[in-house]
Amino acid sequence: MLLFKTVRSIKKYLNTVKKSGKKVGFIPTMGALHEGHLSLLKAAKRRGLVTVCSIFVNPTQFNDPEDFKKYPVTTDSDLAKLHHSGCEAVFLPSVKEIYPHGTAIKKPQKFGFLSETLEGEFRPGHFEGMAQVVERLLRITEPDYLFMGLKDYQQQLIVGQLIKRLGMRVKLVSLPTVREIDGLAMSSRNTRLSESARKKAKWLYKELSNLADKIRSLKEKRSTKIVLKRLSTKNTDNNKNSLKDDNWLNVIGQLTSQSAKRLAAKGFIVEYLEVRNAKTLSHPKHINEKLVVLVAARLDGVRLIDNVVV
Ligand code: AMP
Repeated sequence: MLLFKTVRSIKKYLNTVKKSGKKVGFIPTMGALHEGHLSLLKAAKRRGLVTVCSIFVNPTQFNDPEDFKKYPVTTDSDLAKLHHSGCEAVFLPSVKEIYPHGTAIKKPQKFGFLSETLEGEFRPGHFEGMAQVVERLLRITEPDYLFMGLKDYQQQLIVGQLIKRLGMRVKLVSLPTVREIDGLAMSSRNTRLSESARKKAKWLYKELSNLADKIRSLKEKRSTKIVLKRLSTKNTDNNKNSLKDDNWLNVIGQLTSQSAKRLAAKGFIVEYLEVRNAKTLSHPKHINEKLVVLVAARLDGVRLIDNVVV
């Protein structure tokens, strides 16, 4: 495994890789690696790509300076894990190397509602910093494929938009969330949970998947009703609205607030628990839209996020 600390050196290496006709898969990370990160690397390897992982704790995406200070740094064990998993190259730049002209964002990328809602609302500036570093890293590595986790659902939607906007030819591959045995989504921040909080943390996914299951069965019920209604009426131009989307959406709203209350009773400070359109993150208008349930909650001072697509 090769280790690069400068933009110049990794560019030089990648030029030779590309000249030899090989395709590059890039996995950006902030380190403190776990099986979630490694699943992205393994997916890139399965595609026969030359794998490049970056480890860079990007200061500009932390809206909370304390969170940045406390972010775990475990470089030696990260490098060992990457080596063991067959990573070809690691990019481990300094802040100066990534931002030679300072960290201020001159022309922030804007994504409107997509970046202002949910995480954007609770972490102002986070996505601007994230887009800034992803753009910089993509311009340095110019990969054929970019691997990201669905764990950061909103992030991978925004990166998809960013790639389109910049006209880059890189293909974004978003992969499922890797979980601990009790369901907790793996995250570098989990190491900051106390023993008792770690035990409680499993309830986040339990509530989330429970809510997703209920929504799924509501969706199924609704499709069955539509089929039955179609069969029982000669009018094939069935007016779906007669089945009152409003009612279904009200039920979803009630189920969601019950879940949020149960989480609060278990000690979570819920920032949001929301059912949204899976592509746009807008509030759903019809139950037959593809939906995603997203949550952010603090437990023991640690901010946890998770989501389940319905
Ligand atoms: P981070 O180091 O937290 O910035 O994450 C780097 C990449 O790993 C991002 O694309 C994340 O979405 C992804 N990732 C983080 N946790 C997981 C997980 N539990 N399962 C799958 N991917 C993950």
